[in-house]
Amino acid sequence: MLNNKNICVLGAGVSGLSTASFLSDSGYPVHIITKDDPRTATLHPEFSSLFPAASIIPHTVNSNKLRDLFRLSKDRFGKLHDKQFPGVTINRHYELYSHPRSVPAYAKTMDHFEVFDDFKHEFHPDHPEYPAVAGWRYSAYFADWPLYFSALIRNTLEKIEGFEIKTLSPDDIRELPYDIIINCTEIGSLNLFEDSSEQILHRGHLLNLPGIPAIRDPQGKVVSYNFSPGKEVYRSENGIEQDVYCYSRQDGLVLGGSRQKGTLDSHGKWVGEESQDPVIAVDNLKLPAQILELHSAILNHSFECKLPPKSKMRSKVGYRFTRSHENGLRLETEETGDKLVIHNYGHGGAGVTLSWGCAHRVTELLKEATN
Ligand SMILES: Cc1cc2nc3c(=O)[nH]c(=O)nc-3n(C[C@H](O)[C@H](O)[C@H](O)COP(=O)(O)OP(=O)(O)OC[C@H]3O[C@@H](n4cnc5c(N)ncnc54)[C@H](O)[C@@H]3O)c2cc1C
Repeated sequence: MLNNKNICVLGAGVSGLSTASFLSDSGYPVHIITKDDPRTATLHPEFSSLFPAASIIPHTVNSNKLRDLFRLSKDRFGKLHDKQFPGVTINRHYELYSHPRSVPAYAKTMDHFEVFDDFKHEFHPDHPEYPAVAGWRYSAYFADWPLYFSALIRNTLEKIEGFEIKTLSPDDIRELPYDIIINCTEIGSLNLFEDSSEQILHRGHLLNLPGIPAIRDPQGKVVSYNFSPGKEVYRSENGIEQDVYCYSRQDGLVLGGSRQKGTLDSHGKWVGEESQDPVIAVDNLKLPAQILELHSAILNHSFECKLPPKSKMRSKVGYRFTRSHENGLRLETEETGDKLVIHNYGHGGAGVTLSWGCAHRVTELLKEATN
């Protein structure tokens, strides 16, 4: 019988916790083993779940398979919002470009999606020097991360059968006393499992502005935005256009963004794109100055919000790990020795966005494999 199988989830980031929670709700007793304890872990860029900004927006979702997962995930976030699960919020989200841009494919999946045709008379966050000429707004779920992630941890630990902190090696996995392994170790999968696909990291910088109140539109709705000033103003080392984003949280604003492509060498050191001049240092971390400069101008111009001095800001850098094919994500079953492994890794910049959809799919894969 299904429930007689011993199931172990590897990893306690947002994927491992959401998957363990979904499996428990579906009647499966599960254990979790993780290298990092999410309740106490100190920041290190490889543990991605300490970093998300975290919008539930399918910016990097571009296949039917992932779109289906997004729909499932969005539905679950909607239910959590209705149940007032901590940290699940709805913002009016703006995406603005200082150059022409066509409407994205995900427009259909977002609620209240409206394209701007009158930039003069309709409220939108704007940059005084690089005014928007294309853009849209919609309603989107957000996870106010400090609130949401701690509630997800608490809620999941209450449901599961066991929780163990251990750094596993491939040999340990063969010896684990479980029939079914659900692999949610994200970048850790590179050491633990065979995978011939190309592995890619995108490094992202964040600034936290503690104590700065949520930004709001003239109707009082909480606002968030992405803004692309064009390649001439902000691009990566390899010339890819970059955008910046600002999300409101209960404890202050979060400013991003950067997507620097690279990988890690055999000592775990970053090898890849670096921040290009102009660069600023906040909290001893160097990051693209555009993140601060563009937001500072937009926030001041559109919300009369003045940024605090750099000494009051906090900075972070984390990795988004993905795989080159099938839009990155590995969500499939593999038999290794006497164990069944269900993989759930390679989420890139969409691990929160897809978390509940992936958890749902893992549960379906488990049912298919064991029935
Ligand atoms: C700057 C930034 C902004 C982002 N913003 C967003 C956003 O707005 N929306 C969004 O959807 N996503 C966002 N992301 C992406 C998101 O953070 C990740 O996709 C997500 O956190 C991945 O979660 P995970 O649980 O799969 O992996 P992780 O959080 O990395 O967890 C991996 C787990 O595996 C464990 N593990 C690893 N190796 C081993 C081992 N050998 N033995 C035992 N355990 C092991 C680790 O300890 C950890 O518990 C952002 C990422 C960054 C860096």
